[in-house]
Amino acid sequence: MASSSAATSWHERAESLDIRSRAFIDGRYVDAASGATFDCLNPANGKLLARVAACDAPDVDRAVAAARAAFRDGRWAHLSPAKRKRILLRFAGLIEKHRDELALLETLDVGKPIADSTRIDIPAAARCIQWYAEAIDKIYDEVAPTGRDTLALITREPVGVVGAIVPWNFPLLMAAWKIGPALAAGNSVVLKPSEKSPLTAIRVAELAAEAGIPDGVLNVVPGFGHTAGKALALHMDVDCIAFTGSTATGRQILQYSGQSNMKRVWLECGGKSPNIVLADVADLDRAATAAAYAIFFNQGEMCSAGSRLLVQESIRDALLEKVQAIARQMQPGDPLDPETKLGAIVDEAQFRRVLGYIETGRSEGARLLFGGRRAREESGGWFVEPTVFDDVEPRMTIAREEIFGPVLATLTFRTVEEAIEIANDVIYGLAAGVWTRDVSTAHRLARAIRAGTVYVNCYDEDDITVPFGGFKQSGIGRDKSLHALDKYTELKTTWLDLS
Ligand code: NAD
Repeated sequence: MASSSAATSWHERAESLDIRSRAFIDGRYVDAASGATFDCLNPANGKLLARVAACDAPDVDRAVAAARAAFRDGRWAHLSPAKRKRILLRFAGLIEKHRDELALLETLDVGKPIADSTRIDIPAAARCIQWYAEAIDKIYDEVAPTGRDTLALITREPVGVVGAIVPWNFPLLMAAWKIGPALAAGNSVVLKPSEKSPLTAIRVAELAAEAGIPDGVLNVVPGFGHTAGKALALHMDVDCIAFTGSTATGRQILQYSGQSNMKRVWLECGGKSPNIVLADVADLDRAATAAAYAIFFNQGEMCSAGSRLLVQESIRDALLEKVQAIARQMQPGDPLDPETKLGAIVDEAQFRRVLGYIETGRSEGARLLFGGRRAREESGGWFVEPTVFDDVEPRMTIAREEIFGPVLATLTFRTVEEAIEIANDVIYGLAAGVWTRDVSTAHRLARAIRAGTVYVNCYDEDDITVPFGGFKQSGIGRDKSLHALDKYTELKTTWLDLS
């Protein structure tokens, strides 16, 4: 039931939504060659949203062939950067114009709060495309200092056909992090959205065409990982896979590359990020709020979630009391209610996985302080209470494995050295938080922690201008910023004899 008039209005809009559900290949919507579909369900109530084309190897072949043909004849790659910029700016503008529709699709598809999809996911996706569009005609190539008799040019070329395989936690935004720089650099793209969240990718393909991106340059093949995803990653005519998803799948993608054409592989994978609060923290309230949002925002379905709270012994009780108070205010609600802060878990499988980890935490001896149960069962959807564990030991499963749900594991430490040891004692290295008023301690920790991003006295700061990605098994390469262009370009050296 809708709890406010604003929620009612989103529910009404949802009723009249025209959902696109077919693959987008060579500039038009098509069914999967097999005619197969899969059901796309609303995780907030378990109801059917759409039957989506279930693409497999033959569809991937068609999409890659279209992408290759477009790349070969240069209809996009040979346009001047200024022309690609203009078209991509139109594309970003259309995403902004259709913000509410895309936000609604995202919320229906994955259960995230509508306030987040309208204010964060869709605007950030538009800004990403816009930023790479603006950047691409301002980047110069190089001339090497080789001497008078030779000229050595170092130029960047698009890699060719890029396969982008993305997850479901920020479906359009993760896709934008790939297609923004890939298209700006002149590549053709085959995008495979997650089977749990295909709807916005399918819809924006049409907006890209409307903006003037030529046929074949951006193709979308919805389908499962072990079918469409695998076919793309094994394809002999794909030059690069840009992947975001779990570390387990990332490992498989590396193997597919080795088994096929040694395509470039860039991986943005999982995390188990430590958020370290020292006893000299300047503002415990701020640290507590940030610690709660670091794990409960987006239902904890965040690669960079601060899922391990490392707290110095003397302030543990005070901090945990405040974190619980915030958790109490973040009870799951109707994702279409603009007041809701915590939505549904993406699907039943993930819901069961999260509850399974909560059970494991208990059975391994961690103390369940708050939450831990299913919520809103009467809705027919998959909701989990914000959950806080205390007395977690570094060896426990909930301290080591990525849960990807609203479950916080609290560990206690005495010294800074101990905090560093615990922080680094996992296979991941995506992000970390450090809370202290001592600037030297902050720098010491920031240097010692093996992670792609360290937040000092903040958590989850975000801007398209800064690179994002992981150390260790959190990935290879970086999304966002100008560094992301390294993924989608080859360096060429051209020697000219001037003697
Ligand atoms: P996942 O690995 O299950 O799936 C990701 C994508 O890979 C999906 O499109 C899926 O269909 C596809 N896939 C699955 N198996 C495949 C295979 N064998 N071959 C080719 N493709 C395959 O991950 P998920 O559950 O969708 O997403 C959650 C994960 O994503 C978490 O681990 C999270 O940390 C990670 N993530 C990382 C970042 C980052 O920037 N580092 C950002 C968001 C999410």
